[in-house]
Amino acid sequence: MHYSVLECPHCRNLIDTRILSLCSSLGPPEVLCGKCGKTIEMPRKEFSQFRVGDRIRFFLMSTVYSAMFAFLGGLAGGFAYPSKAASWVERSPFNAGFGVGAVLLGFAVLVIQYRRVTESLRRTAEKEQRPFQQGLLELQTGLQHKACVVFVSIGLLVGAVGYGVSRY
Ligand SMILES: [Zn+2]
Repeated sequence: MHYSVLECPHCRNLIDTRILSLCSSLGPPEVLCGKCGKTIEMPRKEFSQFRVGDRIRFFLMSTVYSAMFAFLGGLAGGFAYPSKAASWVERSPFNAGFGVGAVLLGFAVLVIQYRRVTESLRRTAEKEQRPFQQGLLELQTGLQHKACVVFVSIGLLVGAVGYGVSRY
């Protein structure tokens, strides 16, 4: 799978990730490296600088992200849902659990994307001091690699639950 990363030029800390060149371009144009504290220029801009085309792109990207997460959340929910199937491979994930997982993750992505816009507008309105302090738990920067960590965690959790269920 094609992806590119933006590392801190000073300490090689992972700053941002693009998977399949996907990027909504929204975010603080300058961030402080969460590790060494130096300022890094980002290929992103605030919502107030968005032209019509950027807004449409952001809206489309948000829809794509939401759909992707809904599907993966659905698979996770579907496999975690109790099943009477004899073995793990015979189980179909398309059950009530799929619906729950899909709605939860699809909705979570929309909330995050909406918050990114409101946070961007707030930064602009309050003339918040740049650069933006990057951190592990904020949801304004580095979202793609944070999302990957969430995915892998969900995958491991579902795998563990499925393995546990299949033993009884
Ligand atoms: Zn650094």
